[in-house]
Amino acid sequence: MGGRKIYYKTEEEIDLLRESSLLVGRTLAEVAKVLKPGVSTLDIDKVAEECIRDNEGVPGFLNYNGFPNSLCTSVNSQVVHGIPNDTPLEEGDIVSVDCGVLKNGFYGDSAYTFTIGEVSDEIKKLLRVTKESLYLAIEQAVAGNRMGDIGYAVQHHAESNGYGVVRELVGHGLGQNLHEAPEVPNYGRRGNGMKLREGLVLAIEPMINMGVRQVKQLNDGWTIKTADNLPSAHFEHDVVVRKGKAEILSTFEYIEEVLNK
Ligand code: MG
Ligand code: MG
Repeated sequence: MGGRKIYYKTEEEIDLLRESSLLVGRTLAEVAKVLKPGVSTLDIDKVAEECIRDNEGVPGFLNYNGFPNSLCTSVNSQVVHGIPNDTPLEEGDIVSVDCGVLKNGFYGDSAYTFTIGEVSDEIKKLLRVTKESLYLAIEQAVAGNRMGDIGYAVQHHAESNGYGVVRELVGHGLGQNLHEAPEVPNYGRRGNGMKLREGLVLAIEPMINMGVRQVKQLNDGWTIKTADNLPSAHFEHDVVVRKGKAEILSTFEYIEEVLNK
């Protein structure tokens, strides 16, 4: 994390964060165009890096603490931080594609879990509930609320559907650092935690497991996967805390235009 100091952003800084976040959305849409059975996560990593650089950005994850690629690609029981490889994706797989961009000195960071071909109804429900939990959390990201309201929204929705909420990894502040204070847990109690103030920019990213909440790390030093090997889903948006209603800086619109074609 980029220190413990919390940087509240000016409108000028928010404009730059929005630009970076939207470039992540456009990059994930390029990924959406090529994802299908037979394509590998290294293939989509190449597509993403090209899109980012073509738009005057720098891949935010590449070389971050030594991470080797532009995307984190986490397949099926992998939760987050998966390293792209040349294994072809198969019909029925899901893949969380997490992308970071640095442009004009500010980061964007957003993730979407894609389906490869037809997936089971069970998996469709996991993805739907995880995405719903993200938007319920965003509804809580308003000035005067507390951090625990965000975490509670995710946890309550996921757990009432029988899912496990990952605790070891959390969302974060976002700005000139990819990971800034404060941490944004996906669990919590209403009315608890720090008070949210206008200008706070957060990456909110529920990681929801079909089975138990426990995770383990692979010996590649990066990949986090579920302890019971059941699937996990992950969606992430960058948001600004505002009065009355949070503003979402990133977007899934470009992605979903491609997917709904
Ligand atoms: Mg991310
Ligand atoms: Mg993040």
